Amino acid sequence: MLLDVSGIQAFYGASQALFGVDLAVAEGEAVALMGRNGMGKTTTIRAICNLNPPKSGAVKIAGVDTKGRRPHHVAKLGIGLVPEGRRCFPNLTVHENLVAAARSGPWTLERVNTLFPRLQERHAQMARSLSGGEQQMLAIGRALMTNPKLLILDEATEGLAPVIRQDIWKAIRQLKAEGLSILVVDKTLSELLPVADRCVILENGKSAWSGRPADLTTELQDRYLGV
Ligand code: ATP
Repeated sequence: MLLDVSGIQAFYGASQALFGVDLAVAEGEAVALMGRNGMGKTTTIRAICNLNPPKSGAVKIAGVDTKGRRPHHVAKLGIGLVPEGRRCFPNLTVHENLVAAARSGPWTLERVNTLFPRLQERHAQMARSLSGGEQQMLAIGRALMTNPKLLILDEATEGLAPVIRQDIWKAIRQLKAEGLSILVVDKTLSELLPVADRCVILENGKSAWSGRPADLTTELQDRYLGV
């Protein structure tokens, strides 16, 4: 397994947010991490990256236990995170943002610019002057420049204009087709389910259901994802 999360529990101060999350991503697999608001998706991602280290349970990346490792060491094990709220360096140009993230591997500036031609067009602009959608493309581009084994996307299309969302989904489909392993959180099921090989649903900080998108019946959707 590329990513193996078993029984993790995590807290914010004294308040427990995760009560036992199990989740695995195999090489080349795209897994959708799902669940209603507040069920623990972002906390699980933060725990995987050791931004909010789990109190118990284990996270293994390509067999390596992440316990006690700083977030940048976890990233070096092969995690490319596109966090909720897309963090780029606002006062660096698009080009500088991308180059600053670079680690050697198949993903280069050229390939990122081919994936997102808009970034090429805006290469000399400050990141802060980009539209929300362009910043999201930049955040994904930055994650790819680290040449991750696993790309994690937390609500990458949230709050963006429909045209831009389409561009981002197109890029995600392309990455998946190229065999990149992906863990993705997104609310748009009509886009999410076709790219996912498997879904893992969280309820109240626990993994509650896991299976193929084809087996995610409307009953299950109502039960776990309905508002
Ligand atoms: P959303 O779709 O709303 O982002 P989520 O599934 O990602 O939801 P989390 O953000 O992981 O859910 O939240 C899980 C639980 O942890 C919730 O009960 C939430 O209130 C709590 N929580 C999240 N962030 C914090 C924080 N910084 N401090 C305290 N509690 C938090």
